[in-house]
Amino acid sequence: MSSIIWDFTKRVYGTAIALSALILVMQRLGIGEANLILFLETIKMRSMTLQFLCRLNHHWRGRSSYKTNLRLFRSTRIRKHLNMMIVIQAIMLAGVISKSCRETHCHFCLNELPADAVPCPSCSRSVYCSESCQIQSGEMMLTSERDKHHIFHNLPDDIVEHIKGITPADVYYSENECIQEHQHECRGANWPAVLPSDAVLAGRVIMKLINQGKAVMDLSNLQEILELSHSYSMMNPESKLEMHLLSIVLIWCLSKSSCPDLSVCEAAVTQTIILLAQIKVNSIAVVRMKSSGDFLKCIPSGNVSAKEQIQSLEQIRVGQALYKTGSLFNHSCKPNIHLYFLSRGLVVRTTEFVPLGSPLELSYGPEVGKWDCKNRIRFLEEEYFFHCRCRCCSQINISDLVINGYCCVNTNCTGVVLDSNVATCESSKLNNFLTAPKSLDHHIKVWEKVHTDVGEVASSLLSKHRDSLHIEPDICLKCGSRCDVKNSHAAVNKAWNHLRRVDELINSGQANVSVISDCLRSIAVLRTFLHMYNKDIADAEDKVAQVCYLAEELLDARKHCEASIKILKRLYEDEHVVIGNEMVKLASIQLASGDSSGAWNTTKKFSKIFSKYYGSHAETLFSYLPCLKQEAAKALNLSS
Ligand SMILES: [Zn+2]
Ligand SMILES: [Zn+2]
Ligand SMILES: [Zn+2]
Ligand SMILES: [Zn+2]
Repeated sequence: MSSIIWDFTKRVYGTAIALSALILVMQRLGIGEANLILFLETIKMRSMTLQFLCRLNHHWRGRSSYKTNLRLFRSTRIRKHLNMMIVIQAIMLAGVISKSCRETHCHFCLNELPADAVPCPSCSRSVYCSESCQIQSGEMMLTSERDKHHIFHNLPDDIVEHIKGITPADVYYSENECIQEHQHECRGANWPAVLPSDAVLAGRVIMKLINQGKAVMDLSNLQEILELSHSYSMMNPESKLEMHLLSIVLIWCLSKSSCPDLSVCEAAVTQTIILLAQIKVNSIAVVRMKSSGDFLKCIPSGNVSAKEQIQSLEQIRVGQALYKTGSLFNHSCKPNIHLYFLSRGLVVRTTEFVPLGSPLELSYGPEVGKWDCKNRIRFLEEEYFFHCRCRCCSQINISDLVINGYCCVNTNCTGVVLDSNVATCESSKLNNFLTAPKSLDHHIKVWEKVHTDVGEVASSLLSKHRDSLHIEPDICLKCGSRCDVKNSHAAVNKAWNHLRRVDELINSGQANVSVISDCLRSIAVLRTFLHMYNKDIADAEDKVAQVCYLAEELLDARKHCEASIKILKRLYEDEHVVIGNEMVKLASIQLASGDSSGAWNTTKKFSKIFSKYYGSHAETLFSYLPCLKQEAAKALNLSS
């Protein structure tokens, strides 16, 4: 058998991963070797599918070049609410739990499992937080539940009208809505646990559409119903082969376990491959915020509980889902909308003033302040197959200049020095920097801010004429001094090796004074070579704050936490949600050190940020928020 597989892999691209997954499934399903060989032969015959797909893809791309731009609608009543409002509340088309969360989160609503979790009565492999979730996952939805999940629930009339206008919502959320997304996975072998999440999700979409009577049995109308964009033609041969194999395996599993009328035919395989390609670029990671501290038990002020982690927030990916309306948004590295999840529901909220008629843009992951420009562009090209031309990837901004920047040899100079990779990437933006629109009021303000920011670290860019502008590596962009970036890079790496060991010490509970002085030495090295707004320094300061907190050096912990926040504010912006998360740490340090008025002020600041990003849902999503607020208020009253 192995020789056949080897021969096969040599002939077709050689995706060993896909093959081993296939064999694994076959073994789980109890398929013999003879059948396996037959199976592989079938796949070879399918290579003609590829040609067909290329044709189909052209047709498809003609219809929508990438994603449809969702623009803010013109309506006088809406105009008042443009500043921070809910744009869309949508329900899932289909979703699947992350493999890593199978034991910890409900397989239906994706919330954390309680102690008395309810397993699926027929297969017991799926676990639910309640009977209601279990029923909804396998049976018809109850009428009352359906109303609760209805897309237009709680939305103003004009927004409902608008959503109806831009989406075929009635097709998806009709009266006969049923979810039944797990039912077809119960019988037979445990293939949903073996296949990758993308394939399980595709299976759920297919079965849902079949059960609703929308998809025909050879799936030939699948794309007509879904109308999602995809980038199949741009994928590499290995990914294409993997999708071909997966789609055959998936259809085979579906037909064996619950839908005998479904067969591995040309149309079904082709449509499933396209569906997998659509899932790749359209599915959204469902995330939950997890608090690493013990938020149920608030830390009493002035009494630090020894060896406990600082209260902090961490995002965990609990699932993957398709939302028809959610996938309409284009990407920007500086998004003006924010997504979050309430159970299976998706909420989209604007986070800044959006001028009338401007596009609503979402981040697909990369964001300014998180990564530098070249890394963002590379990620989006690899994962989403487009070259980002958002305002930050096409115009000079302070965050991209300093995030990986080095400092000037001249100690009084605040200028930034770039390595050759960053310099090349930033150079290509220069033309756009000087020709950026300066006509509208809003743009003038943005322009002025960019000018002040960039002037602080790279004033040489502002003084010269456009034609003579270029960014040279190893040269300070403010005073023009030459710096040895290679040498700095080596020193920084050495300091980081020290700092990485700190993580192990924190985990083993060995944070003490000598570890702190080690950390401080490393930070001093980083500050000698890196620009003062370099993200590495923010990360290091954050780590040191953690060590100081554990060693009960609370004043130092606070100092380093504040230093980290100061840098992050420069990289993101003052009221970015990342700053809010950091402020939660700061407030818990302040509370622990008995600084009640400081804690109260910080609490007010991060509450404002969270309400900008999550509205009134903030207190539901972060259950410790009211508790922390209450604690800060109590401490303030006691001290005054
Ligand atoms: Zn649940
Ligand atoms: Zn089951
Ligand atoms: Zn971008
Ligand atoms: Zn300088």
